[in-house]
Order: sequence, then C-alpha cells, then structure tokens
Amino acid sequence: MQIQTVGIVGAGTMGNGIAQACSTKGIHVVMVDISEAAVAKGVATVSASLDRLIKKEKITAADKDAALARIKTSTSYDDLKAAQLVIEAATENFELKCKILKQLDGLLAPEVLVATNTSSISITQLAAVTGRADRFIGMHFFNPVPMMALVEIIRGLQTSDATHDAVHALAKVLGKSPITVKNAPGFVVNRILVPMINEAFFVLAENLATPEDIDAGMKLGCNQPIGPLALADMIGLDVCLAVMNVYLTEYGDSKYRPCPLLKEMVAAGRLGRKSGRGVYAY
Ligand code: NAD
Repeated sequence: MQIQTVGIVGAGTMGNGIAQACSTKGIHVVMVDISEAAVAKGVATVSASLDRLIKKEKITAADKDAALARIKTSTSYDDLKAAQLVIEAATENFELKCKILKQLDGLLAPEVLVATNTSSISITQLAAVTGRADRFIGMHFFNPVPMMALVEIIRGLQTSDATHDAVHALAKVLGKSPITVKNAPGFVVNRILVPMINEAFFVLAENLATPEDIDAGMKLGCNQPIGPLALADMIGLDVCLAVMNVYLTEYGDSKYRPCPLLKEMVAAGRLGRKSGRGVYAY
C-alpha cells in the first residue's frame, strides 16, 4: 500500500515533528489535537522550524509554503478518514491511548493502518485493544524528529508483514533509516541507553571519577556526542529512574536495579535541566 496521506493524533513535540518530516517529503498530513490552541501551536512550531532551515539555506521560502500547505489541521477525528496511515502521538498514558485507538478503530476504513509513537507501552497490548491488530505497529520516532535519522519500527506479536513493509517504506520516503524491532520494554535503543546511564550513576556513586571525567571518557573513548550524565540531565533523572523501574518489573532481572544515587537525586528534586540541577547545576 502506498501511503500518500498520514493522519497524526497529537500536535505536541512529536506530532508536529512527524508532521514536518512528512510534509517536507511531499506527504499530505492531517494533524488532530484536542483544541484549536494545541493544533495552532503545533503548526507554529513547524513554521519556526522551517524558518530555521531557510536561514541555513537548506530549503527555500517556496518549499516552506508548499510543506505548510500539505498540513491540514483539525480537532475532529473525522478528518483522519482521508489517511492511509494514522500515527498516534498523544500524551504517554495507557488509558488515553486505548481510548483514542478504540475511537479510531470505529471510524477508519478497515484497510487503514494505525501506528503508535509510544516510547514505553507494549505494542502487542495496544494492538489487542484494536480490531485491526495485524494492521497495527509501533513507529518510534526520535526527538527532534526532523533532525533524527532513526525510526524504530516495532512489530507486535500480531503485526502482519504487509503492515511492516508499508510503514518501513514510508520511513524511507521520509529520508529516515528505519530499524525493525520485536516488541519488548524499551525496544532496542532505550533498552541499551538507559541501563548505560544507570551504570554511569554507579560509577559516580563509587567515586571512580568526577562527573566531568566520566562524561569525557564516554565522549572521547566511545565517540558519543554527549556524556551519559549530561544526557541524564537532559532526559530528566526521574524519567531515567522510571524507565529502569519498568525494566526491573517487566524483565524481573536484578541487572536493571536502579542506582541508589539516582534514586536519592530524584528524591531530592535534582531532576536535571528542567529543575535547574541534576548531576550538573544549570
Ligand atoms: P506532548 O505532551 O508534547 O504532546 C502530546 C499532545 O497530545 C498534546 O498536544 C496533547 O494536547 C495531545 N493530546 C492529548 N490527548 C489527546 C487526544 N485525546 N486526542 C488528540 N490529541 C491529544 O508529548 P510528546 O513528547 O509529543 O509525546 C507524544 C508521544 O510520543 C508519547 O507517546 C511519547 O512517549 C512519545 N515519544 C516522545 C519522545 C520525546 O522525546 N518527547 C520521543 C519518542 C516518543
């Protein structure tokens, strides 16, 4: 199936990023959120992002106008009927996503594919609440979507080959480099990344080196663009802790034990950049 129009549920950070990635590659978009203010904010974010690309001479003003003209916005799910694929990118909440998916299911033609951009909820479990589990898949974009090359394509237990192939082909049209992953907590990238960050906290707690030297070690020795402790401050220490707790519960393996220092810092409200202090002070 060739996907010419993509529906997006949620015009927030990820939703508007996906809208930009699609519209700049000639794909039509219908972006839906719960209020006019939310969709307007989403479009304004895309517009500002495209302005930065014009400034860098990566696109022209005409390219920007054409991309924006391909984005239709709405507060009604009815307008999603025009899409061959609908990507759910609403707030990360299991009950909310179930509600949205059931609503979409009753509305969309049977052949329409549905994807979710969830970073932590089971694709197999979400597929099971729809009446189209074989046409349901995870499409995990990375933030900021227009810049980041990776899309993790996550197959639920029930996802068909045809659904996988159509979504994989779309990711290529968007200029992304997709990887195919089976459903499991953390998928692939966060499964490796977050335990590495947790280990950096153990190294810090054992006083093996200063935070600056731990980060310099991983930057210079492993070619990482940012050290794990500075990255934890960007992601939010509370988010890192929550993810480790999910792995510990879901995999039942003590290797996912959150570092006590990470817990202490979260308990103290040192959450990273967003609270002004994490491993580093901002
Ligand atoms: P966000 O808070 O920026 O945006 C969520 C949007 O969903 C909001 O605009 C909200 O109004 C809208 N929304 C809520 N309920 C809705 C409904 N019933 N119908 C339509 N819209 C609704 O969140 P985000 O960071 O864009 O995250 C969206 C999804 O992407 C989550 O599942 C998140 O886990 C995932 N994700 C986020 C990142 C990231 O770095 N932010 C990265 C990868 C995946």
